[in-house]
Amino acid sequence: MKRYDVAIIGGGIGGLMTAYRLISKNPAKKIIIIEKGNALNNRKCPASSKQGCIHCKMCSITSGYAGAGAFSDGKFNLGTAYGGKLGEELGEDVANEYIGYVDEILYSCSDVITDEFGNETRDYPAIYESNQELKLKCLQNNLRLLDMNVRHLGTDRNMRIMGNLIHFLAVNGVELTTGCEVESVEKIYGNGGNYLIHINDISYGDYVVETDYVVVATGRGGSKFVSSLCKDFDVDVLSNTVDIGVRVEMKDAIWRGFSDHIYEPKVLYKTKTFEDRTRMFCFNKGGLVSAENNNGVITANGHSFSDDVKRTENCNFAILSSINFTAPFDKPTEYVESISRLANEIGCGNVLVQRFGDLIRGRRTNEHRLSQNTVFPTLKATPGDISLVLPHRILTNIIETIYALDKVAPGTANDDTLLYGCEAKYYSIKPCHDEYFRITDGIYLIGDGSGITRGLSQAGAMGIYVADHILSL
Ligand SMILES: Cc1cc2nc3c(=O)[nH]c(=O)nc-3n(C[C@H](O)[C@H](O)[C@H](O)COP(=O)(O)OP(=O)(O)OC[C@H]3O[C@@H](n4cnc5c(N)ncnc54)[C@H](O)[C@@H]3O)c2cc1C
Repeated sequence: MKRYDVAIIGGGIGGLMTAYRLISKNPAKKIIIIEKGNALNNRKCPASSKQGCIHCKMCSITSGYAGAGAFSDGKFNLGTAYGGKLGEELGEDVANEYIGYVDEILYSCSDVITDEFGNETRDYPAIYESNQELKLKCLQNNLRLLDMNVRHLGTDRNMRIMGNLIHFLAVNGVELTTGCEVESVEKIYGNGGNYLIHINDISYGDYVVETDYVVVATGRGGSKFVSSLCKDFDVDVLSNTVDIGVRVEMKDAIWRGFSDHIYEPKVLYKTKTFEDRTRMFCFNKGGLVSAENNNGVITANGHSFSDDVKRTENCNFAILSSINFTAPFDKPTEYVESISRLANEIGCGNVLVQRFGDLIRGRRTNEHRLSQNTVFPTLKATPGDISLVLPHRILTNIIETIYALDKVAPGTANDDTLLYGCEAKYYSIKPCHDEYFRITDGIYLIGDGSGITRGLSQAGAMGIYVADHILSL
């Protein structure tokens, strides 16, 4: 049986950053990354604007090396204002310090290019900085612009950097498996490692490895695995916030007043009718709407390329309404999944798309109306009626938010604006942990699967933080 110092479950940014830190600081460490998906360059999503999601058994958008972030827009938030609660967990200063390390590692993995004068430089973009004028404009309209420095790598550059990072790990002796799903972790006593990891390899069947430390970095898609791990090790779990709503798509020009000055307009709103909190976020300039398969539930998302040639004439963003359930209900994720599943049901296995004008007039969007729309959909979704899916309260919140946003970006509430339903974001369940994110002695839980992060930089920062702790033992 093979034995390792550290076994990392999941090859997303959290797992990769953990491995990078460990092997850079101590090249003698024996490290394995156990990943159920494919190698980065074998990850291919067959969905396109002509053909929707075909429900692959292993979703290439969310699984495989570079994790859920592989096809993302590569927006690295250089701060803690959003993208997770790492600031609350570690304190702002420490969280920011670790986010800075993520940025340094990404820089070191960026391509070296030669400029027109023959000087070598890095293919690493500048930061989009915050903008006070836009903040004021939003405040004057009851909207709160959340401003933070952002580094936008873009899907293509992000892919290259992730590829270089993975290559670095491979040449430095980190064992990288593919098609290997961890089924369970078992505590052992006596000689050797502390834990046995039970793995199902799609090509070679079941096998077991032994390790001293386990870093669980299974992302949102690994929620079932984390639940059963918590059960096995008797770890208490807390309920968490869920957000549900739609992906909104319109002509890019409508939001240029913002997107030409800050990278990502991220806006909070308190709705008039219910005084609920909604947020507009995950903005993609010149982007594409995409479908995401989480455990068989298809939801909307979005991304954009840094290469101008690949940009579309649309922009897209999410508008989600936050829900905090209280006792006795303790299944917020299941709630959101059941709404999204209903949208898939009506959409015949796909997300729904509806014109804002049709939603307001209480009618479904059909192929005919969609074909005459001035905003051309960038995702092949099923034209339909999202009011048959979203609960009244959430739908009211979304409509009010669209009208509120229309005041700072006129045209947002145009009839031809497209709404894709559903989009959902949820922190995973939040298992109890100590100050080093250990859920039990020797097992660490990091990234989106911990219920603490929901963005690339914080998930990566958490991995580096845990690596530093393991190195200190
Ligand atoms: C389309 C899209 C766009 C996004 N855009 C952005 C963005 O621009 N900026 C941003 O900050 N965030 C973005 N996000 C969110 C970001 O991708 C996540 O926050 C981040 O990937 C979380 O990293 P992670 O390492 O915790 O988990 P993940 O990236 O989800 O990685 C987890 C990995 O674990 C593997 N795994 C799960 N269970 C097992 C198991 N039992 N055995 C073995 N392997 C397992 C999975 O296959 C996966 O590869 C986006 C997400 C999506 C889907």
